[in-house]
Amino acid sequence: MADTPNDPVVVIGLGRFGSALALELTNRGTEVLGIDSRPKVVQALSGSLPHVITADSTDIEALRQLGVAEFHRAVVAIGTDIQASILTTSLLSELGIPDIWAKAISDQHRHILTRVGATKVVAPEHDMGERVAHLLSGRILDYVEVDADFAVIKTTPPRDVVGRPLRESRVRSRWGVTVVAVKPQATLAGRRPEFTHATADTVLAHGDLILVVGPIDSVERFATSD
Ligand code: ADP
Repeated sequence: MADTPNDPVVVIGLGRFGSALALELTNRGTEVLGIDSRPKVVQALSGSLPHVITADSTDIEALRQLGVAEFHRAVVAIGTDIQASILTTSLLSELGIPDIWAKAISDQHRHILTRVGATKVVAPEHDMGERVAHLLSGRILDYVEVDADFAVIKTTPPRDVVGRPLRESRVRSRWGVTVVAVKPQATLAGRRPEFTHATADTVLAHGDLILVVGPIDSVERFATSD
């Protein structure tokens, strides 16, 4: 059966990253088995996570006994102890878990995790640093990288595209980006309407919020033009 967004997830390592992840998944209705080697950490989370247990994830017998092999999805959220992170990832792979996410704290770490069976590697500190850099430049109010070279940003329109239909301002041919949604400025009553799809006939005003998609260089150029 194909994985669904609600398939249970085993989260190993309940530090800052792992505990935030496990709690958010639980709040969203996903069943989570949380594992950490430190009893204090497990105890602190036992009130908010229904299934949380003390175990050493580098011990394959312990993983077997906990039924970890039955899970289709696992996240290795151990960062600082690189050896434990790598060993745990390889054991999960040996147990046949098809979807293994792992957290890396360096490029080398990322590389090894992929080699030992991680299907997706995240580097939260590195990725957040990049994200903040984008938020600090130009008029970018929010930024999500959806692929190595593609992003969605929330921004405001440059002066040049205000007051005429998008078709006329030729946003796509000039900047190589597409305006996909617009949220007009607050009304006199102070309420800002919701985002709606932008079309070729959409006329943007100063202060509108827009969602723009395109290659990273292009969306940045768009968000820094006057
Ligand atoms: P963060 O920066 O997100 O807090 P850390 O790497 O500091 O990440 O924390 C990872 C967590 O993983 C810690 O709570 C630690 O006790 C746990 N951990 C480390 N090694 C193991 C292991 N072999 N088995 C289970 N949990 C582990």
